[in-house]
Amino acid sequence: MSVTFFDIRCDQCNFLGTSLATSGCYLWEHEAGVFQFERQLGLCLDCNEVVAIEDFPNDATMKRAREIHKTYTGKPLLRFLEKDYAKYLASQKGFTILEKVLMLQRSPVCLVCGNSSVREAHCLEGLEKDEKRSLGFGHPGCSGTLYAQSAGNLRFGMRPTTYTYDINGRLISTTYG
Ligand SMILES: [Zn+2]
Ligand SMILES: [Zn+2]
Repeated sequence: MSVTFFDIRCDQCNFLGTSLATSGCYLWEHEAGVFQFERQLGLCLDCNEVVAIEDFPNDATMKRAREIHKTYTGKPLLRFLEKDYAKYLASQKGFTILEKVLMLQRSPVCLVCGNSSVREAHCLEGLEKDEKRSLGFGHPGCSGTLYAQSAGNLRFGMRPTTYTYDINGRLISTTYG
């Protein structure tokens, strides 16, 4: 499997980050169950680095997922095969863990330090080769603006690193593939 990745740079200083910060498998663990959650790329103001941030499903998606979950009896669906995100969520064994996390009504946290002073890097979908795209916010503590630029393709190994968190987003364990 090969994945396009990109660098995050600042137009005023030598700050450098990479979208590879989100690679790996991310789990919430609660009462001996796990739920594999989505993460997004962002900037953590505490780490001052490009990091993975929790990505919660929106209200409309969760509303549909709850409806589907009530009657769903099939197998857990695979994220990269199932186009309907709500259906995918509803099919997961750990769906109640996702509900637990959302019930806490907390903000998404940085998956490195667990703090919530983060900025989400939106609209980086479909970044073209040679394209520079602004992240939509400045570089904190610097007058520069952050932008993303394609850095090429990378072949991934078969076994990703797995990061396991509690439902508050605190890292419990890291398993290297
Ligand atoms: Zn800067
Ligand atoms: Zn952080």
